[in-house]
Amino acid sequence: MSDLQLTNIGQLVSYNSETRGMETRDNVEIAINDGVIAEIGHRVNSTNKQIDCSGKLVTPGFVDAHTHPVFLNGRENEFTMRLKGATYEEIAAAGGGIINSVDDVRHASESELFSRVLSRMDRFLSMGTTTVEAKSGYGLNTESEIKSLKVIDEVNKRHKIDMIATFMGAHAIPHEFKDNPDDYVNLICNEMLPAVAQQGIAKFNDVFCENGYFTIDQTRRILSEGTKKGLTPRLHADEFENSSAAELAAELGVISADHLMNVSDAGIEAIAEAGVIAILLPGTTFFLGSSDYAPLKKFEDAGVDIALATDFNPGSCYIQSMPFIIALSCIFMKMDVMSAVQAATFTSAKSLQVEDKVGSIEIGKQADLVIWDIERLVQIPYIVSDHPIRSVIKSGELIF
Ligand SMILES: [Zn+2]
Repeated sequence: MSDLQLTNIGQLVSYNSETRGMETRDNVEIAINDGVIAEIGHRVNSTNKQIDCSGKLVTPGFVDAHTHPVFLNGRENEFTMRLKGATYEEIAAAGGGIINSVDDVRHASESELFSRVLSRMDRFLSMGTTTVEAKSGYGLNTESEIKSLKVIDEVNKRHKIDMIATFMGAHAIPHEFKDNPDDYVNLICNEMLPAVAQQGIAKFNDVFCENGYFTIDQTRRILSEGTKKGLTPRLHADEFENSSAAELAAELGVISADHLMNVSDAGIEAIAEAGVIAILLPGTTFFLGSSDYAPLKKFEDAGVDIALATDFNPGSCYIQSMPFIIALSCIFMKMDVMSAVQAATFTSAKSLQVEDKVGSIEIGKQADLVIWDIERLVQIPYIVSDHPIRSVIKSGELIF
C-alpha cells in the first residue's frame, strides 16, 4: 500500500456526509496515507509520491450494488433469439433462461468459476467500480449455492476489488421443484440458509419476488428466516409487473428494493416511509429493448433514497459499466448527473451498509477514486459510448 498525493485535480465531485449533499470543488489536491484519504485541500502538505491529474475530473470509485457475476457462460444465443422476436416462453422452451446458467454452474468446478469471476472483476475495476455486490443464485441447490458463495469469497481475497456477497438461493424455482415450489422454499429455509450462515460467507439474503418466481408469502418466509440467521434482507421487487413486493419490502424493513419498474404509487409511499433504498437498474430495461424505465420522478417526489447498479448477469443485462448506467439514467430517466453520481457511489454504498468506509471522498475513508480523462462532471453522460477513465485508485493503490 503506497502513499500518494494527487495534484492538479480540475474538478473533484463527491458526497459530503457533514453537509449531507454532493459537492464539487475545483483545483484541489488529495493526500493518501496507508490507503486512506488523509487530507483534501487546495494545497496539501505531503511528501508522498505525486500523481498529476492534469486538471481532470476525480470522483469516488463506483459502488455497484446489484450484480449476478457467478455464472459460467454468457447467453448470447438467447439474446440473438430475442432480437429475432422470440418470446421469453420460446427462449425457455429452447432451454434458455436462468435454468440454462444453473445447469452450467452445477457442472462447473470451483476453479473454473473462480477464473471466470476473477476476470469479470478485472473488467469492473477497469471501468471504475471499486466495490461490487455479488449474488449467488445460479446453483439453486445447497452444494452449488455454497460453491458460488465460496467462489465470491475466494475472488474477494485474491482481487483488489471489494466484493460483498449476497445469498440468492431464491433466484428461480429449479426444474426439479417445478411442481412443488413450496418444497424448494423449505429447502432454502431448512438447509441452505443454515449452511450459508454457518459458513459466514454472505452478508445479505435476496429473493426474486415476482409472478412465476417467488410469491409474497414465500418471499416473506425466506427473508424472515434469513434475518433470524443474521443475513440482512434485500429483494427484487415489481420488475415485470406490480406484485406489491415494494409493500412487502416496507413491511419487512429490508435495506433495498431493486428494479421497481412496475411499482405502484402505494408501493412508493410505503418504501419512502420505511426508509427502504430503491436500487434502479436501467441497464436491464435498455438491454431488453424495453422502454419500461422505473418512475424516477415519483421516487424523488416521495423522498426515496435512490441507488444505481448494473444488474450485470448473463441473461437480461450484460453491462458492467457504471458510467454507462449513469448515462442511461440521465438520458432515459431524466436523472440529474450529480444525483446519478451520488446514486452510483454514496447511496449504493449505503445500500450495502459500507458508507462509513467507501462511496465518497472524505478524510478517513478508504482511498477508492477514479481519475477521468474528462474535465467536468457533466461530460460523463455526454460521452455515453466511451469509457474515459485514466486511472483507478483502489485502497490507495494506483491500478493503471
Ligand atoms: Zn438481479
